[in-house]
Amino acid sequence: MEDQNNHSIRLAVFKWLDQVAPANDYILDWQLLSKGFKFKNEVIPLIGAKGIWKPRVIQGIPISITSVQQSIYSDEIVSDDMMLYSYRGADIMHSDNVGLREAMNHQVPLVYFHQILKGKYFTAWPVFVIKDDPDKLKFTISAENYNVIHDISLLSEPGADYRRKYQTREVLIRLHQKSFRERVLAAYKNHCTICNLKHRVLLDAAHIIPDNEGGLPEITNGLSLCKIHHAAYDQHIIGITPDYRVEVRNDILNEIDGPMLKHGLQEFNHKKLILPSSKKNLPNRESIDIRYQRFKSA
Ligand SMILES: [Zn+2]
Repeated sequence: MEDQNNHSIRLAVFKWLDQVAPANDYILDWQLLSKGFKFKNEVIPLIGAKGIWKPRVIQGIPISITSVQQSIYSDEIVSDDMMLYSYRGADIMHSDNVGLREAMNHQVPLVYFHQILKGKYFTAWPVFVIKDDPDKLKFTISAENYNVIHDISLLSEPGADYRRKYQTREVLIRLHQKSFRERVLAAYKNHCTICNLKHRVLLDAAHIIPDNEGGLPEITNGLSLCKIHHAAYDQHIIGITPDYRVEVRNDILNEIDGPMLKHGLQEFNHKKLILPSSKKNLPNRESIDIRYQRFKSA
């Protein structure tokens, strides 16, 4: 077990994340994390230059691990319910690696950061090291561990309850979803590709080929759409042609109604999409066409 002071700091970190992460959709900026917060007059940064991070005031066991690989198909996420984390370097006795081994042996909870864009980190906590593989130089990270978290909550002040929050699978699903959203919105510079609306809270990253049909969470399978245009696209009220134009369904075009219908839908008929400037981020034409054919036959 960790000593009480380290425990208190660790719990303070979780509490602080409880406050800041939900409001930021669990995606936190480097500046915020490296600045950290004050605990008993000591500054506690949550992230550092190296992947395995321990603030100066903590002894022994690290506080966070950061995966900097931007691809969610990196070797660190190998299946739906497992995360692997690479050793620091190849020295199995490097102090950072020893620290994570200690975290495993004592089942000390950590924070997991996954960089999904430069300076932006998906955040999950608490996570645990559950396996050490010195041959492959990797640790296995899990987000589930009932008993240990229960123990931790016994040690903490009243009200701080860190019993299991997630399962690893849930964490990974969230990571995939948020990563997709962030990257698509960044590619479109945070505007709706149809109407140019620029309020992030009203924007979605829409799949062109849905994920349950094998559509990949990649920018080229995504469209940045406002909530209305997302729903309209999914319901075949509007379609998008392979030359990236909006097509409004005939019965909708002929309908007479208020300004939302007129300005929000009808006026975009045959308008060109406002697309990412970078060619490699353009929507995949084949996928767009598959969806367009569905729209035509709907
Ligand atoms: Zn829109």
